Amino acid sequence: MNYQDFFSDKLSELRNSGDYRVFADLEREAGAYPKAVFREGGQESPVTVWCSNDYLGQGQNPDVIAAMHEALDHCGAGAGGTRNISGTNHYHVLLEQELADLHQREAALLFTSGYVANMTTLSTLGMRMPGCLLYSDAWNHNSMIEGIRHSRAEKRIFKHNDPADLDRLMRADDPDAPKIVVFESVYSMDGDIAPIGEILDVCEKYNALSYLDEVHAVGMYGATGAGVAERDGVMDRVSVMQGTLAKGFGVVGGYIAATRELIDFVRSFGNGFIFTTSMPPSVAAGALASVKYVRGAQHLRDKHQERAATLKAKLEKAGIPVMPSVSHIVPVLVGDPRLCKLASDALMDRFNIYVQPINYPTVARGTERLRITPTPLHTDAMMDDLVAALVDIWGDLSLKWAA
Ligand SMILES: *Cc1c(COP(=O)(O)O)cnc(C)c1O
Repeated sequence: MNYQDFFSDKLSELRNSGDYRVFADLEREAGAYPKAVFREGGQESPVTVWCSNDYLGQGQNPDVIAAMHEALDHCGAGAGGTRNISGTNHYHVLLEQELADLHQREAALLFTSGYVANMTTLSTLGMRMPGCLLYSDAWNHNSMIEGIRHSRAEKRIFKHNDPADLDRLMRADDPDAPKIVVFESVYSMDGDIAPIGEILDVCEKYNALSYLDEVHAVGMYGATGAGVAERDGVMDRVSVMQGTLAKGFGVVGGYIAATRELIDFVRSFGNGFIFTTSMPPSVAAGALASVKYVRGAQHLRDKHQERAATLKAKLEKAGIPVMPSVSHIVPVLVGDPRLCKLASDALMDRFNIYVQPINYPTVARGTERLRITPTPLHTDAMMDDLVAALVDIWGDLSLKWAA
């Protein structure tokens, strides 16, 4: 076997399909978000970023940056070990308490990322509960799919956001088998939101645990930013709340919040928790400052929703095909991977606007899109520039206008 030829053949196939990914080399500038510097071919240009998951601009919150500086100077660079072997810093303890409190749970557990939180928790629960059945929403994020797969437990896929289909599947299974229903609140590529209460009704009917990924909602929904389950008044019914510190909270890291027993179980048996160095104290300190700040920042949540609604209205008025979204996410349908990439390139090259094309496998083929994420820091003038640029490009590339 010629290994290098194999790799490059596979990459050629990917390029030909239009799904090959090119990363934008960005330099974010604290205080200037959503502006950044983009570098390509030895050139530098200023760009407006329209596709970041730093949804609330917490990545440049002065409180967060100050907390990180202070912890860095105080504790140094790294955590120094796994959580079990010298790597539990006081900031980790404080952050876990804060997250448990945010979700009104007995305990919380930190992971190095939201991905690792999903992967580790689901694989651990699915693997360690004999005969466990896992019910997974058809649109679940890769981190949950991999966690479920890794558990080697039996899996059932229910139709996206469809409690009746979940009920149909659960009715057919052994009533005494342990069960976990795995789903998200805000689905990040379409911006739709799960009927959490109705799904919990089904979970309770069949005595199943519920596992809710609120990665795209924490910080942004609910009276204290605890997520859509808080907004809907059902948070106390969710068995495991899962979130990230990387998106609405603007730093990095993942977590779960649940009962003391469940958290201790994952802490004690979860390989992706046990066998890795804990996050740097400065990161935990920054996340802690961010969560504390965001809990009280209803003005940010209001502004965030207003900005998303304003952008949707401006795009619709201009005839750009905004996909239906009930959240802060504004997906614009292109429907072809090559055209999607061309539209994104044109935005960058001609208008200094950065929106990454979203292609397969992140979304289904034929639904390739530009996923736009307005934040409280995107101004009306930036929106008008974006809409004008898209109108120009839609004409140029003969893309489909809104029906
Ligand atoms: C981004 C994402 C994750 C992973 O979170 P990270 O903290 O970025 O690792 C998990 N679930 C969903 C739905 C996501 O979109």
